Amino acid sequence: MRIILRILSYLKNHKLRVFFAYFSLAGSTISFMAMPRLLGESVDSVLDQGSTSFLIWAGLAILGAAVFRGIFSFFDTYMRETLGQRVAYDIRNVMFNHLQGMSFAYHDKQQTGQLMARATADVENIRMFIGMGVLRMSYLFFMTASVLALLLTLDWKLALMSLAFIPFIVGRSFVIGGQLRKIWTRAQERTGELGIALQESLSGIRVVKAFSRQEHENANFSSKAGELAKENLASVRVMATNTPMMAFLFTASTALVLWFGGQQIIDGSFTAGELTQFLLYLAMLQMPIRMLGFMINLISRGTVSGQRIFEILDAVSPVRERPDAIPLDGIQGHVVMDHVSFGYDGASPVLRDVSIEAKPGEVVALLGATGSGKTTIVNLLPRFYDVTEGSVLLDGIDVRTATLESLRNKVGIVQQDVFLFSASIRDNIAYGAHNASDEDVIEAAKAAQLHNFILDLPEGYDTWVGERGVTLSGGQKQRLAIARTLLLDPAVLILDDSTSSVDTRTEHLIRQALESLIQGRTTFVIAQRLSTAKNADQILVLKDGEIIQRGKHEELLAEGGLYSEIYELQLRPQEEAGEAVTARDEASS
Ligand code: ADP
Repeated sequence: MRIILRILSYLKNHKLRVFFAYFSLAGSTISFMAMPRLLGESVDSVLDQGSTSFLIWAGLAILGAAVFRGIFSFFDTYMRETLGQRVAYDIRNVMFNHLQGMSFAYHDKQQTGQLMARATADVENIRMFIGMGVLRMSYLFFMTASVLALLLTLDWKLALMSLAFIPFIVGRSFVIGGQLRKIWTRAQERTGELGIALQESLSGIRVVKAFSRQEHENANFSSKAGELAKENLASVRVMATNTPMMAFLFTASTALVLWFGGQQIIDGSFTAGELTQFLLYLAMLQMPIRMLGFMINLISRGTVSGQRIFEILDAVSPVRERPDAIPLDGIQGHVVMDHVSFGYDGASPVLRDVSIEAKPGEVVALLGATGSGKTTIVNLLPRFYDVTEGSVLLDGIDVRTATLESLRNKVGIVQQDVFLFSASIRDNIAYGAHNASDEDVIEAAKAAQLHNFILDLPEGYDTWVGERGVTLSGGQKQRLAIARTLLLDPAVLILDDSTSSVDTRTEHLIRQALESLIQGRTTFVIAQRLSTAKNADQILVLKDGEIIQRGKHEELLAEGGLYSEIYELQLRPQEEAGEAVTARDEASS
């Protein structure tokens, strides 16, 4: 009930439409209800008086009522559908905004396929619930009540007799509603699972093909689709057994009326016209009763879907902007992490008592084994996650007191897997700085060593990239990411120095691009290579979420310990190989 009311609250924004919908509904019902009356009276007038003049008038009146009914029912249907569409539109937007506002911690736990199913299938159920359920429901109530009243005034005994089965129907409706809600809860869950299967196998299609797992994916999808079909069929079964039962009860009561009503006509206490009216009104009840099953179904689906949608809308982001948050301005890039501890799930800490100070313009290299917490540390700077203990300060301001937008504009990240949107290459570069001029974009592309490549593209800066567009290589994507961040002009920079997969020429280009990016910014580098760490102002060596060594390259080498171990094991051979390749390249050019 609470869920239904909450869905209905979305109608508040469309009061005028709701009014017109009800107005048309009432008009159409009244014109419809006039018909049996006109027909019944005509029967009596013909039988009693043999009068044809009344017959003509009644015929015309019926025709008029039919025209009115047609007009009203057009507006009624149109208004209902519009309302359904509007509410679906509103809910979709609210949901999308909400999902965009949720922090990493939320999205870590959510499955894209499930979210997509909720944004599509569940919103669709709400649309049908509003469009066909809510207003129709009032119509059915209104009509049933009026017909009942008319039947009772015509002949209350006959009415009570013929309607004795109504309480049974109402009771049964509740039972069926309960059953359907359970089925729909499962069905919507299955829709979500199907969404996950579809989304994962499509976005992972390259992996599927590479490991030739099509059969496996097919089987997985088909079993999920089968489960969904099973739930849908279960709901059909419930409804299908219900409808004939209702129809039978209804027909039985019609027979009863004919029997007793006929006798009353013979007794002379009832006219043929009155019986005609009675039977026609009774027949009018058939529609609401038949619709009842459909309505219960719509309501059950709407409620289940509403719950699934509100679950998303009610989720609070762990990282929230304070109401009194201040926009960061004129930031120098002085970063302090003061005794920071952090865990993704609260239970097991990933970072323990980490303290870092980076002065404006300094380069800080983070080094350590995979899983030691390097990425986690840098994720705390733009507040992708909030610290569990301690604080992160930017120019002395706790990041939790700043507005999220200004903070993220000050902290630029060159992410490892660069995401390209389906848009022109210009728009992809200007993604973070949408107000940037064409000159700014070109300048950034030049600094990122991407300009010449772009000029060679078929449509230059207007070339479409992303899905269905030109495919960029790993190195080109990385430079695009650099250009993107350059344009943002952040005071603090986060880099993931994982360029090991590109050839030396590309690496050289990237290195150049990075150099122009780092210039004058406080930079945190997740260092995979020694050369980056070597020139850093500070090197932080991490182990199991703790900083176990810190200092410059020479200091750390002299100190011994993990740093020199890493150096011996992996970085020295790499460096020597790198130097050899560079020497060879230089010799050959
Ligand atoms: P590194 O960057 O040094 O490889 P990470 O910071 O990515 O290390 O990971 C540190 C630890 O935190 C690892 O044990 C990892 O499993 C865990 N971890 C990383 N990201 C998440 C996440 N989103 N949710 C839960 N645990 C995570």
